[in-house]
Amino acid sequence: MTDHTNADTLRTPIVAVLGHVDHGKTSLLDTIRGSAVSEGEAGAITQHIGATDIPLDTISGMAGDLIDPTDFDLPGLLFIDTPGHHSFSTLRARGGALADIAVLVVDVNDGFQPQTEEAIDILRRTGTPFVVAANKVDTTPGWNPQDGQPIQRSLAAQSERAESMLNENLYEIIGQLSDAGFSADLYWRVQDFQKNIGVVPLSALTGEGVPDLLTVLMGLSQRFMKEEMAIDVQGPGEGTVLEVKDERGFGATIDTVVYDGVVRNGDQIVVGGQDDPIVTEIRALLQPRPLEEIRTEKKFEKVAEVGAAAGVKIAAPDLDRAMAGAPVRVVRDRPLEEVIAEVEAELAEIEVDTAEDGVVVKADTLGSLEAMANALREAEVPILRAEVGDIAPRDIAVAETANQDEHKAILGFNVDLLANAESELESADVKLFTNDVIYQLIEDYETYVEEKQRAQQ
Ligand code: GDP
Repeated sequence: MTDHTNADTLRTPIVAVLGHVDHGKTSLLDTIRGSAVSEGEAGAITQHIGATDIPLDTISGMAGDLIDPTDFDLPGLLFIDTPGHHSFSTLRARGGALADIAVLVVDVNDGFQPQTEEAIDILRRTGTPFVVAANKVDTTPGWNPQDGQPIQRSLAAQSERAESMLNENLYEIIGQLSDAGFSADLYWRVQDFQKNIGVVPLSALTGEGVPDLLTVLMGLSQRFMKEEMAIDVQGPGEGTVLEVKDERGFGATIDTVVYDGVVRNGDQIVVGGQDDPIVTEIRALLQPRPLEEIRTEKKFEKVAEVGAAAGVKIAAPDLDRAMAGAPVRVVRDRPLEEVIAEVEAELAEIEVDTAEDGVVVKADTLGSLEAMANALREAEVPILRAEVGDIAPRDIAVAETANQDEHKAILGFNVDLLANAESELESADVKLFTNDVIYQLIEDYETYVEEKQRAQQ
């Protein structure tokens, strides 16, 4: 472990937002970004690919008197723009989670839901410190909204009845966290955020309690980054592919979050590819232009280098074979072979156990493929083949070779059936299931198997 006593060596912590659908993840991110923009001068937030960087001064402005910026030697917080545990599990870094800390959003009226449980499982497995945002406090009957205020000030303005109704819901969530094996309490009663989960009541709609959330995130990152993270901010860049995208004028590009080191234009890089690692040279590093400057032609601005943590679009030859969720490594000053071996080792960690007979699994990213494999293992469904990518004719042919009838199936997570595979599927004796919620996908498949077995009896 490196001792980070020098402020310059602490990089921006990466924050992810997870939670059940409709509990308010997107709204919360929007509110944080929106209030950062209104907090001040242009440049209060910097635009990145796939992430938003909010500097310390802006955060302390947003948190009002809750934060003293001199208490922190972090540059700010980098929020991953795509919420949800799907993107969270996609975002890996050296076998762990890419995000340093997470916000678990729970609708205060709705409590724990299936995706809340899934998110908790992922956070536990990856050992990611997190805080719970008990969202939508404004929907408490009789609530008297206090826009943008810290939660204590907001609570002081509520009727006794509203406050006690809110408390009842909050304690329900604290109880559910305890059932999940986490000791938790209202955040102002928590002394040590690594031993206890802090619950922050807030509203993404009115912004009340958001200052408190930012305060807890800063406190949590400060401790975590100091004690747990060994970061070489000056070294060769390391990152994770978020998305592979065709970009006019650049060909296939990869949206990448750089979590360590520096990436420079012209660097030789190794990227996890569909068959073998891709070795290529960076032609351009691209960042989005500020919105007001975007005319029709140029969406991006070329930059010479980016340092961790940051989101950037990388343009380079041969990136069409890159996989979302795969590692990206700058080679600089190291033998190429060593870097290739590193990328291969990281990819091997994600490899899925397959059986002689089983279903075909397709997923949009390596992380989601792994999550699918874990969920299928728990459901005791064997896997014949598992791959990243849309459903192609070849997948249907493979599924048809399954021995048991119930295994002649393709489970596609967040992927499409390719146009050239449609007619193939119609004529084949293969059942296709697609969904963008893992547990629903598996539930659909299990229901199908049960019905099939019942029909045979
Ligand atoms: P996501 O699926 O978790 O990203 O949830 P969204 O952010 O899309 O929110 C789902 C719905 O809840 C939307 O209609 C939001 O306007 C609403 N919503 C989110 N946060 C709040 C909140 O704090 N208060 C209220 N009243 N509604 C909210």
